[in-house]
Amino acid sequence: RRRTYLGLVWDRTLDTFEDALLHLRRQFFWQGEFLSSSGRPKPRLVILGTGWVGHAMVKIIDIDKYEVIVISPRNYFLFQPMLPSSALGIVEFRSCCEPILRANPFIIYYEAEAVGVDIQRRVVKCRAKVRRRGALSVGSESDVGAPSLAETSQDVHALQPRFSTKSNTDEIIGIREFEVPYTYCVVGVGSAVNTFNTPGAKENCFFLKEIPDARKIRSEVVRIFEEANLPETSDEERSRLLHFVVVGGGPTGVEFAGELHDFLVEDAVKYYKKLLKYVQVTLLQSGQSILTQFDKSLQDRALQNLRDAEINVRTGSRVVRITETEIYLQDGAVIPYGMCVWAAGVGPQKLVTDLIESIPAQTTFKKRQLVVDDWLRVIGAEGVFAAGDCATNLHEPLPATAQVAGQQGAYLARLLNREYCLDCDIPERTEYTRTWIDRARFAKPFQFLSFGLLAYIGRERAMAQIEMGDTSVKLSGTLTYLIWRSVYAVKQVSMRNRILITFDWIKAAIFGRDISQF
Ligand code: FAD
Repeated sequence: RRRTYLGLVWDRTLDTFEDALLHLRRQFFWQGEFLSSSGRPKPRLVILGTGWVGHAMVKIIDIDKYEVIVISPRNYFLFQPMLPSSALGIVEFRSCCEPILRANPFIIYYEAEAVGVDIQRRVVKCRAKVRRRGALSVGSESDVGAPSLAETSQDVHALQPRFSTKSNTDEIIGIREFEVPYTYCVVGVGSAVNTFNTPGAKENCFFLKEIPDARKIRSEVVRIFEEANLPETSDEERSRLLHFVVVGGGPTGVEFAGELHDFLVEDAVKYYKKLLKYVQVTLLQSGQSILTQFDKSLQDRALQNLRDAEINVRTGSRVVRITETEIYLQDGAVIPYGMCVWAAGVGPQKLVTDLIESIPAQTTFKKRQLVVDDWLRVIGAEGVFAAGDCATNLHEPLPATAQVAGQQGAYLARLLNREYCLDCDIPERTEYTRTWIDRARFAKPFQFLSFGLLAYIGRERAMAQIEMGDTSVKLSGTLTYLIWRSVYAVKQVSMRNRILITFDWIKAAIFGRDISQF
């Protein structure tokens, strides 16, 4: 039975209180024993990924009850909603990250990539790259004979000779493969960049998914201005170089276009005034509208705001090919460009597609995410859970957002903390009742509590669609921008991040963005 909005809020309040008590116990009383307080060996919980799912889990999981191992190629949590700001220099990269061991120092972390889950043997197969930092690179992944890794956006960059930074960064000197047995495994590996096999997109576009992506964009924007500023650059070449194209009219594309506009009017105008007449920003969207998650009235306001900011928004424009200097559209138009940021969609990680293929029950659903039941258990794989962008529920598909992923991670940690029989039958959705006795005996199915949608649209304006049960409040403008900032500051995962982000905003407001190019 569906709970009411207020019922959900009440449940979350109780959960938060319980989590806080657990946190205090962990901080002050936990001694690091490897047996549970009952004297039995602890079941092993393996969490794949350090994103919203993994981070929410490690914050809440009771390490007195589980031996927790986290496996991820990234040893930190990243607050992605801040990426467009950090790509343009408002927020520093480290301000929107938290090392996973800082979130919970009592877990075991392996910096590796999960390449497979053997559900019969209950083991996760892992692969770690051993790197030598700082030396001039002479090798590459192919030199050590490594098969290609999952298509994360970092791997997309490995394909990009044009933007390679190999010469001064890492040398991969080996690959280590190992297996980690589990009692329970949580797959929270998120999604990968999806270029829809558009020829030239992987090689020529920038992406906005991880910190290295944002770092490259930040450098490239300034590099382009510097190149355009050289005395021998022709006017025609300047116009091409300074044409910034964003592909994708979803929240990421729109927020990036808005941030780029702010950079141009607040900082580029000070340092590259002579070049501004050559600058052009274009947003390409294959559908007929932008920000489709929002109500139509808000979509129209966002479109108008972008047009007022002199951003050329082209809806119904599908990109079919990208070369080093030109973008080809389905309607025959050719757009010369200097920098193209691809924010047009996400697809499944290779681990997820492999896992779907290896589980007969999953192949029948013909989905690109792992299909889970109401308790986030992967159908057809005992002891395996999935949450976040890589999972979907057939009854109630949810949007691929940080809000959903974070709530699912927290839900799973609480489900495990309360020690339900997770391999047995949990009451079906129809048998579920909401009494205190049942709260203690049965695991409630996961239910998403929506706090609404927020998006920055440039010119110090934002949009908000706040959902409260059946009521929806729609806001846009400068006041909403203040709400947007306050919400993002509060939603940071630690006090350290809240303080760092607030200082970054103050710093940028006083001194402007730092345009040093590293
Ligand atoms: P992620 O947070 O992506 O984490 C996946 C983790 O898995 C990472 O640590 C990764 O390193 C790891 N991993 C990947 N492959 C493997 C492997 N093979 N083995 C082990 N680990 C692996 N959502 C909102 O709700 N609001 C917003 O404003 C918003 N803005 C966004 C802005 C940008 C630029 C982007 C890119 C996304 C934004 N989103 C937003 C979406 C949100 O970030 C995702 O929905 C959310 O990150 C999903 O969380 P997750 O835990 O499933 O995956």
